[in-house]
Amino acid sequence: MTIELLQLTKQFGKLTAVDRIDLKIGEGEVLCLLGPSGCGKTTTLRMIAGLEFASDGEIRLGDVRVNELAARERNVAMTFQFYALYPSLTVAENLAYPLHAEALSAGEIARRVDQIARILQLGPVLKRRPGQLAEGEKQRVAVGRSIIRDAVCFLFDEPLSRLDVQLRETMRGEIKAVLEGLNKPTVIVTHDQLEALTMADRIAVMRDGRIEQVASPHEIFARPANLFVAGFIGTPQMNLLPVKLVDRTTDGVRFALGEATVILPVNGATSALRPSAALTIGVRPRAFDLAAQPAPDTIAARVDIIEPMGAETLLHLLAGEHELRVVVDRRTRPAIGSTVHLRCKPNQLHLFGTDEQRLDLRTVPAGVPA
Ligand code: ATP
Repeated sequence: MTIELLQLTKQFGKLTAVDRIDLKIGEGEVLCLLGPSGCGKTTTLRMIAGLEFASDGEIRLGDVRVNELAARERNVAMTFQFYALYPSLTVAENLAYPLHAEALSAGEIARRVDQIARILQLGPVLKRRPGQLAEGEKQRVAVGRSIIRDAVCFLFDEPLSRLDVQLRETMRGEIKAVLEGLNKPTVIVTHDQLEALTMADRIAVMRDGRIEQVASPHEIFARPANLFVAGFIGTPQMNLLPVKLVDRTTDGVRFALGEATVILPVNGATSALRPSAALTIGVRPRAFDLAAQPAPDTIAARVDIIEPMGAETLLHLLAGEHELRVVVDRRTRPAIGSTVHLRCKPNQLHLFGTDEQRLDLRTVPAGVPA
């Protein structure tokens, strides 16, 4: 079973909430729809579930076009949040609750409850009531209730949004493990990138109804396809610096950053660029080293604010008029107002063209002109 969206579009009057998206979610794959509020994640999910009809395009579950089918005919399980449990029912009764609408035999219900209890390791507490459970166990029961129906796919809309931070952390890992065992296509909507990065096999990053990039969590983080994805994924946020190409040297390409210049060890796509092309350099806050001396390949920046973060320290810096965020070891303590010299770590540069799309880079081998 797979879920396939072809040019899927949803219009609310003049507003295009979902704009011609193409997406295929494989058998057993967990896909996270990630993006800022209002980008169309929930509308996409509701269209798959049949709670909202598509304005255009197609939804296929396996080989079947389901656009015209009502929600109950699609056999899709959709969970909005992991709701509270019924306090007067036992764990087994709570788990069985969603099955009562399905006209199943008592034997079949017991079999499903046992199966889910095994997957979620709830066997020992099946006879207890929610009041006698640890918080993590309660959440596992809530997950169990969402997946107990023999649906063709699972859809979750911000399932963890109501939980406190600590529980979220443990639940992310647990849900991932459970979903892997089910081997059904699953779509999770979230605006929380950590949730997406830990739970997804692939992430689709959305903006304004469009999909900006679909890739594995690692790929999205290591090779963001455009400026939006680069700025959206990763905390602290990636530094995005507007630069102009000046010329090519034996050590790399010289860029103008405000009044200053910096030589960065890149070529690849830059060989096709004309001088003075306006580009954006992306460097993650952990991808800088502090150099002892200024050099042609360093960026000078003044220390503005120092923010301790436990084992690391976040420095807010100013390079001319550009703000930079740099994470250093907590023992590195430059004085506020002093100047530091930043060198990009090798192979950790991102470059985006005038059209905001990623340019592919190759590091310059030493001594070869860029
Ligand atoms: P959030 O995380 O805030 O729910 P989202 O990415 O899930 O955001 P959607 O809820 O899908 O976004 O909404 C996408 C756009 O469609 C928004 O501009 C929203 O206001 C609009 N929208 C959603 N549902 C309706 C509706 N029933 N009628 C009119 N406009 C709607």
